[in-house]
Amino acid sequence: MEQVTADVCVVGAGFAGLAAARQLAAAGREVVVLEARDRVGGRVWNRELPDGTVVSAGGTWLGKGQERMFQLCRELGLEVYPQHDDGDHLICLDGRNRRHRGIPKTGPAALATLGWAFLRLNLMARRLPKDAPWQARRARAWDARTLGQWLSHPLNVPSTTAHTLLQSTMNLLFCTDPAEVSLLGALVLARGGGGSGFGYYTDTRKTESHLVDGGAPELARRMAARLGTAVHLSSPVRRIVQNTTGVEVASDAFAVRARRVIVATPPVLAGRIHFDPPLPAAHSHLRQRLVPGAVIRVHTQYAEPFWRGQKLSGQTLAPRSPVPITIDQTPRSGEPGVLSSYAFGAGAVRLGRLDPKERRDIWLDALAERFGPEARRPTAYLETDWSEQPWSLGGMVAHFPPGALTNYGSALREPVGRIHWASTESATLMHGLMEGAVRSGERAAREVLTAN
Ligand SMILES: Cc1cc2nc3c(=O)[nH]c(=O)nc-3n(C[C@H](O)[C@H](O)[C@H](O)COP(=O)(O)OP(=O)(O)OC[C@H]3O[C@@H](n4cnc5c(N)ncnc54)[C@H](O)[C@@H]3O)c2cc1C
Repeated sequence: MEQVTADVCVVGAGFAGLAAARQLAAAGREVVVLEARDRVGGRVWNRELPDGTVVSAGGTWLGKGQERMFQLCRELGLEVYPQHDDGDHLICLDGRNRRHRGIPKTGPAALATLGWAFLRLNLMARRLPKDAPWQARRARAWDARTLGQWLSHPLNVPSTTAHTLLQSTMNLLFCTDPAEVSLLGALVLARGGGGSGFGYYTDTRKTESHLVDGGAPELARRMAARLGTAVHLSSPVRRIVQNTTGVEVASDAFAVRARRVIVATPPVLAGRIHFDPPLPAAHSHLRQRLVPGAVIRVHTQYAEPFWRGQKLSGQTLAPRSPVPITIDQTPRSGEPGVLSSYAFGAGAVRLGRLDPKERRDIWLDALAERFGPEARRPTAYLETDWSEQPWSLGGMVAHFPPGALTNYGSALREPVGRIHWASTESATLMHGLMEGAVRSGERAAREVLTAN
């Protein structure tokens, strides 16, 4: 096994790990990054369709307030460009497709209920202390129930249509059934959306306004390239030993001796590393409880974006469909046409179990219901099931089940001696997004710089 020494070892080369390493290197620290995969980027990933068209299969869009990501793009010479947004969106609630721009046509009762429910949730989220939501006055009560229970209470969401829409939206945001998500945990995500609360995440004009030319993975690739030989791929870390003078981080091929380590993996994967001495109970339990969501994303390619000819934007929401959302992901050049569509949570798990041919048929039928028969005949069909990715175990983000935050939340960012933590799940702002990952890495790097 090759022995390497450094000031700081970073485990994981997703945006959190790369941002941490970049900041440390800029401050003159010698850094080594160990990455399990044979590529950098983690939950961002560029894949190729058979004709060579590159599609981003993980984190893709940037939006308002994501200053660190926009800044990094500028620093590394990458252009950003606006998401195609011309034409009508579709909403399908009762078997009928309804066109809309802005506010969906759901009827006044449902709209009023949605507004009221979001307002109340956002007001609750605002009462959370940013760095310690588990210390909120009502934290215990909110952490003892699920988001699903809150949504199902007739006084909170009296309209059936609004309930269907909220269930589906939350299923999308957490990539899991709201019945599995602590109400407090859900509010943490809303708190991370800044002043707009859940509105930040549900308004695609805010979160999905821009794309990175070449894809967000190209930004990760350039960040890694600047770190040069410090980044070691195909190096899954198995063991971290710490004593009073430093840490030893062991992957299959390297043993890195460093003064400190930043673990920038999804929390559940951090929980699978062997720590010696063992982590304090709260740290260990929290990392076993942060549950990755389930998401399958499919790219379907067509000779051209034919839906644009029908004056459709490509954005659709069909809460009862196995494929609840779609969005236009046609390359910047305007062709070929690419639709990106998703299944989330239990729906994704159910689809994932099917025979591939059956899954594809269900998927294409769902697209055809919204875009007509042409959607059933793509020239290419590419599936990415994030639950099958051994170094992610799911996506887009992990959620807190009831009790986890109030019992173990303080262990989310708190260093354990020389071990520091990063990942989008630990971000206080833009939690769950690439921006959150970058911010978490930079926060961990600052901790290391002030500790040394
Ligand atoms: C389908 C999908 C769509 C998304 N869409 C968007 C979007 O449009 N906009 C947005 O902002 N965000 C989006 N996201 C979320 C975004 O991609 C993530 O928030 C972000 O990339 C997480 O970065 P991270 O560094 O925290 O974690 P990761 O990207 O998961 O990085 C962790 C790294 O650690 C490595 N690793 C794990 N275990 C070990 C080990 N033992 N040893 C060494 N390395 C290890 C992994 O291989 C990985 O590279 C999406 C995610 C998915 C899956």
